[in-house]
Amino acid sequence: MAALDPSTIVAVVGAGTMGAGIAQVAALAGHPVRLHDARPGAAAQAIAGIQDSLRTLAARGKLDAGLAQAAGQALSPADDLAGLAGCGLVVEAIVERLDAKTALFGALEGIVAPDCLLATNTSSIPVTAIGAGLRHPERLGGMHFFNPAPRMPLVEIVSGLDTDPATARALSDTAAAWGKTPVSARSTPGFIVNRVARPFYAEGLRLLQEQVLDPATLDHIMRACGGFRMGPCELTDLIGQDVNAAVSRSVWTAFHHAPRFEPSMLQQELVDGGRLGRKSGRGFHDYRPDAPPPQPRLAAPHPCPDTLSIHGDTPLARALAERLRARGIAFETAPAARDCRVARAGEAILYLTDGRSATERARDLDQPATLLLDLALDPATASCLPLAAARQCPEPARREAIGLLQAAGFEVAPIRDAPGMVVMRTVAMLINEAADTVHQGVCSAADLDLAMRLGVNYPLGPLDWCNRIGAGTIGAVLNHLRRSDGERYRPCIALQTAIHSGKPLHDA
Ligand code: NAD
Repeated sequence: MAALDPSTIVAVVGAGTMGAGIAQVAALAGHPVRLHDARPGAAAQAIAGIQDSLRTLAARGKLDAGLAQAAGQALSPADDLAGLAGCGLVVEAIVERLDAKTALFGALEGIVAPDCLLATNTSSIPVTAIGAGLRHPERLGGMHFFNPAPRMPLVEIVSGLDTDPATARALSDTAAAWGKTPVSARSTPGFIVNRVARPFYAEGLRLLQEQVLDPATLDHIMRACGGFRMGPCELTDLIGQDVNAAVSRSVWTAFHHAPRFEPSMLQQELVDGGRLGRKSGRGFHDYRPDAPPPQPRLAAPHPCPDTLSIHGDTPLARALAERLRARGIAFETAPAARDCRVARAGEAILYLTDGRSATERARDLDQPATLLLDLALDPATASCLPLAAARQCPEPARREAIGLLQAAGFEVAPIRDAPGMVVMRTVAMLINEAADTVHQGVCSAADLDLAMRLGVNYPLGPLDWCNRIGAGTIGAVLNHLRRSDGERYRPCIALQTAIHSGKPLHDA
């Protein structure tokens, strides 16, 4: 079955945040749209709101005025479910409760025609469970839009056990005809994005709990070194700490309390204290009118040491060399060393983190002046690098390391020594979850990377990132983390297969 013809009437049930957004998308695609809400007057109010935003978009030149007017006129409220007879697709966006959704679809089966498609926008309830009570569950699938639906391009098309592949295809083609990018997923907890993104929040929250760094520095590092659009603290403040905590808890429960999904005590404390983020004025950060903006903790300027050497030809070593050269700083080059050092600055020896703490690595190497650098999305252009010194590192050596990095044009974020540091630890766990998700047949590798780039704006898909870094490197980081911090960090079977075979993850 191809995309629904624009003359097909689309019904949207639930006129809240998501329902209104989906109705706007369908109307702009040319469909007549009927909006129904259980709360009297809510549908008409939502339509007035949509018409307002369409007018604003047209006034700002972001939307053709004729199209905006036509879409506004295509929307009509339905006072009861009987008013939805005659539509060819119903998208449900009501309260996130299984009993409410099954009751709604059960009632709709008695109203709409046998060939009408049914879609749920649920973010966490299994599509299989919603379809279980239906006479014709084969025509039900998930159509998971992201908030705000008019702006976010991704739609996860979710198939339950009974969803007919033709239904999934029709929903997918229709989403594409509406200007969205559909990806296909099996109905498993969190689908794609809400599952694979969990470590982005969970590892950040754990680093804060372990006092490795403060929220402002964490956000800054994830943006300026990791290349993410937002850090975990500012992002959860935007989402709402209560909403983010509820999704984390639901995924953790659905995965039978797997340690990697364990909810954060720190986040629960914010929820308990009413610090829900932007909407309550305070979360990790303070959004009250006179509050100063968050300030990351960066190292004060230090002089560049006289003797510098760059070792090997890794992306980090190459970037350091190019950045020093561009700034006219003299240094020696040396072939790759057995201990995998990246640079030497006076007495300080710098390495890329491999998942061991600097302290452990200093002990293993019998080299007290050991300092570790974090993973950067692109070390040639990153503006900030986190630095962790071994506990046994002499203070002058630490200053020499900072001096070298500053001479190469980096802001230096000194953090408490922690296995895997910040970006490496988070990215390794994102990759692990992504690999496991594909391995379990939830979606294809291509759809996974696409979903993470479009659904949460990641700079690279996690599987693509793994192939750039190397599965062996990620596996080593996770195995070191696992040794120091337990099962949470166990490399999944797909990653182990990639490591043992020496083949990229996509083929694993
Ligand atoms: P919301 O609270 O803003 O809106 C829900 C609307 O549904 C309300 O207007 C309510 O009156 C109405 N409603 C409740 N029960 C109803 C019923 N039985 N029949 C008709 N109308 C009913 O909620 P939302 O944020 O728009 O979420 C709606 C759905 O979309 C949920 O399943 C949610 O999990 C999912 N979702 C939400 C987001 C998000 O970021 N808000 C993102 C993706 C998916």
